[in-house]
Amino acid sequence: DDDESEFVSDIRWVRINKVKCTRDDITKVIPELKLQMVDDLSDVTGPGKCYIDPYIPYLFGLHKRDKLTSTKAYLEGSVIIQDRASCFPSHILNYNHVHTQVIDACAAPGNKTTHSASYMDLSKDPESCVYAFERDKERVGTLRTMCNKALNKKTHLLIQVTHADFTSTKPEEFPQVTGLVVDPSCSGSGIRGRAADAVDHTRLQKLANFQFAIMKHALQFPLATKVVYSTCSIHAEENERVTVDLLRDPAISQLGWTLASREDVIPRWERRGWPEEFRAIASTEAACERLAAGCVRSNPGEDGGIGFFAACFIKKDDGSKEEE
Ligand code: SAM
Repeated sequence: DDDESEFVSDIRWVRINKVKCTRDDITKVIPELKLQMVDDLSDVTGPGKCYIDPYIPYLFGLHKRDKLTSTKAYLEGSVIIQDRASCFPSHILNYNHVHTQVIDACAAPGNKTTHSASYMDLSKDPESCVYAFERDKERVGTLRTMCNKALNKKTHLLIQVTHADFTSTKPEEFPQVTGLVVDPSCSGSGIRGRAADAVDHTRLQKLANFQFAIMKHALQFPLATKVVYSTCSIHAEENERVTVDLLRDPAISQLGWTLASREDVIPRWERRGWPEEFRAIASTEAACERLAAGCVRSNPGEDGGIGFFAACFIKKDDGSKEEE
């Protein structure tokens, strides 16, 4: 499930950790690599070439043969390796509006936790906090290590790690949380390349049930206005179908949840959700397209990294059901 993927790609995505490093110029942040900027991702043909990602702020594409992990910036946590698509959830969450308090429901090893924290500014908003939950005992250790590395003395309060099952949290105990990132365990088929060869539908259905339950809990937080659901799976069962099942659950639609429109979900990213999967809840092609546009997909191999899916749930102000 981690972002250090088994999937073969020559690009290694790295983001400047804005919690720790105020500089924007990657060539100065990692001077050892003597980076030269290139205009196109396909120009990153070998070490020393660097591409500025147009979708995610402070994200850069380097060649995997660059000796990044021995640089000072990497060792001290000023830069963090994170696949581009895996940066989508925290970016979507904070697009147009930075949340003061957010929850990362399934946090280890902590890529999205530390990325969510990087949008916050304690000096502007002293109540800023990412509540990170992880239920696995060993993985919570990895999460703590990653968060400690990404924070410093001034910012250590930005992330609060809790070893717990997220579904056992009480939503009313987090009255200030307005946004959640939900990235539950999945088949990992977007990472393990040729997963399409042997699809185990029974396993996918079990995963989908679990993903649905975690998301249903996330959608109960009283002040939450945005919840981003994501997987590193390529299968509709874990992606659009979980999204559709949530949207047609009466308890959820009654709360006013719907999908965000494209303009709020990395609008320039071309690959969106699969419209045909929304037929169960939308009667026209246009309505299917509109719902699918509230989701983004990334294909392994084609889109510069791992296979990924994200759907952006937003709560409508009046809590009434949207007309189709
Ligand atoms: N978001 C992480 C990142 O970007 O680094 C990756 C998360 S990984 C896909 C899913 C994680 O959720 C696993 O570490 C798993 O142990 C944890 N998890 C699964 N069910 C959970 C639950 N009910 N509550 C909290 N954590 C859970």
